[in-house]
Amino acid sequence: MIIVLKQGSKQSDIDHISEKLQEMGLKVHVSQGEERTIIGAIGDERVLRETPLAANPAVEKILPILKPFKLASRDFRREDSRIRIGEQVVGGGSLSIMAGPCTVESRDGLLTIARAVKKAGGGFLRGGAFKPRSSPYSFQGLGEEGLKYLADARNETGLMVVTELMDPRDAELVNRYADVIQIGARNMSNFTLLKEVGKLRKPVLLKRGLAATVKELLMSAEYILDEGNHEVMLCERGIRTFETDTRNTLDLSAVPLIQSMSHLPVVVDPSHAVGRSDIVPPMCMAAVAAGADGLLVEIHENPEEALCDGPQSLRLEDFKNLMEQLRSLVHVLGRTL
Ligand code: PEP
Ligand code: MN
Repeated sequence: MIIVLKQGSKQSDIDHISEKLQEMGLKVHVSQGEERTIIGAIGDERVLRETPLAANPAVEKILPILKPFKLASRDFRREDSRIRIGEQVVGGGSLSIMAGPCTVESRDGLLTIARAVKKAGGGFLRGGAFKPRSSPYSFQGLGEEGLKYLADARNETGLMVVTELMDPRDAELVNRYADVIQIGARNMSNFTLLKEVGKLRKPVLLKRGLAATVKELLMSAEYILDEGNHEVMLCERGIRTFETDTRNTLDLSAVPLIQSMSHLPVVVDPSHAVGRSDIVPPMCMAAVAAGADGLLVEIHENPEEALCDGPQSLRLEDFKNLMEQLRSLVHVLGRTL
């Protein structure tokens, strides 16, 4: 249920109504937009039928949210959510660039890549320290050592660190080093993990599962939001289809679709979607044209030698060129990079 307050309602009204809802055993989430304040009341909505809440002079209307995701929906928040991470803001107009290696391999290699990201104008350094590899015999990541290298790169460049969390038992550790916690495609439906990151106060990048619908992605986001963590970014990273010449199929229609259904920012990861570096730049451009709030791009100082996802990783020079192309596109669209 959402309770829409009248324009100009006071903080004391919000507090009073929130208290009443909590007394009824409902979970309360307040969304203060520029135009209006909405209070989301989650739980057994039948209790609301018996209250005179609608008679409160601060209340404009009470509406049910019929969708299986509520806090993630546009009904709950009309304006686009903007997520502030250090000096970066994801959502609401600017284009956020998150680039880096698939996996953190060495301190020197990571620093070389981080400097290139910074120089080209990116705001975030991505890199996995815990990797969800399809084969148990593939390189699984450096663990805490990798997180330390990411922190070193942040200290030197000021880039914000995006890194994956796979196991709730590592939540405290990853939270200590990350600026954004990535939940990988294979864990989109790991509800225990989603609840765990919901308890943290750290932005989350939630990737769409390999065979998940947009609705399922939004329901997974809801698990995080419902725990009180409202800083969720959604990531389209390609879905499985019958096509075999690309690793997955980039579902760009998901970008405007999500934006029509949800207020959460949408990031596109063309690297894992297409799996080959030659198609990554045009798909980055297409993603921005489709309205993506950010891009997640894998880059490497020497893709032939990469321990993971080399074929889809851009060379540093190619990334620099892509950034120049993106800058022109963003300018035409009246957005900023
Ligand atoms: C990654 O970003 O390195 C990754 C493993 O992505 P995904 O979970 O989308 O496969
Ligand atoms: Mn990868």
